[in-house]
Amino acid sequence: MSIGFYKDTFPIKGGDYEAKYYLKKEGGYVKCVLCPQGCDIPDGEAGKCLVRINKGGKLYAGSYGKYASICLDPIEKKPLFHFYPTYNILSIGGVGCNFSCKFCQNWELVEGVVPVRSITPKELVSLIVESKSSRNIGIAFTYNEPTIWFEFIIDTANLLKKSAPDMKVVLVTNGYISVQPFEELSDFVDAMNIDLKFAKEELYKEVSDAHLKPVLTSIRRSFEKFKKNGKPFIELTYLIIPGVNDKEEDFKQVVDFISEIDNRIPLHISRFFPHFLMRDKPPTPLDVLKKAYDIARAKLKFVYVGNVWGDKGENTYCPSCGNILISRYGFTSSFENLDKTSSRCKVCKYEFFGVIGNTEITENLNIKRYKNTYKKIL
Ligand code: SF4
Repeated sequence: MSIGFYKDTFPIKGGDYEAKYYLKKEGGYVKCVLCPQGCDIPDGEAGKCLVRINKGGKLYAGSYGKYASICLDPIEKKPLFHFYPTYNILSIGGVGCNFSCKFCQNWELVEGVVPVRSITPKELVSLIVESKSSRNIGIAFTYNEPTIWFEFIIDTANLLKKSAPDMKVVLVTNGYISVQPFEELSDFVDAMNIDLKFAKEELYKEVSDAHLKPVLTSIRRSFEKFKKNGKPFIELTYLIIPGVNDKEEDFKQVVDFISEIDNRIPLHISRFFPHFLMRDKPPTPLDVLKKAYDIARAKLKFVYVGNVWGDKGENTYCPSCGNILISRYGFTSSFENLDKTSSRCKVCKYEFFGVIGNTEITENLNIKRYKNTYKKIL
């Protein structure tokens, strides 16, 4: 949930689009069951995410079509490293969240201290298709928690799949959604990055005011669906916060959980920087990231270090022969020993796990320029 510091000035006040997944209760209350928070909401109030609002005993999706940020991003920024590498994706985010992470990296959006604008699914679909010439592969719902935008995402994705079936739908999510809406939503989704924030229930409760189990369920169900239908493709992110989730035991639990599902699921181990209510913590030390990376690499085939530009952990290595398949520097990437036509390692023919995309588009030629620029900064 949003922390709610700016609740009085939160930019979502009403809405006229009736929400899905709620129950009417006595005394004008409604119970939202979209996510495991299961808020009981009195008339005139919003749920913990601040965007689902009870008006006269009906629940409304107050943030329907209300966005705070839109940008054409490299797909690597989501992060997705195994889904259309080197392409861009139009990325959009709104306000509010069903978590209350004290380390939130996008708290201005989550707390709603930014202006919002309106867009219809039709307008957004036009933008997505127009951006195709800029190597755009589709739309990513990101920046704030997208699942609380449930109805807007479904309507947009539905329209997009009808008018431009080759365009992709991506979610960058905390995975905190009830099973039935998850099944409905994930039918439209081609790829997801799911945050696995902690390995321990007590940390989910203490730091994010949520629970671990529903997140694990979303990850498991996504992968089952992927095995059955070929989508959604999933990658996971684990942000290491010093003094919070940085123990060897934490890394081992996360890695064991993933390897029990499938050791090919890419894991992004990300560096923390002080933010929001956790400004007292230092950035994650590089040796801690290295330790987590080594522990993960012992069991998982694709592990990445995030937020450390120039780290060797940004590259994709062939799990069979060890050669670099895709090299990266920050958000730019370049095919090395990965054959784009066959999706196999050029050296040992190992089959890449992921979706390469249209092979006729050339790799990002800016990599050398970026390397030089950032070398100067670092
Ligand atoms: S989606 Fe929002 S209102 Fe609904 S249960 Fe979750 S936090 Fe509460």
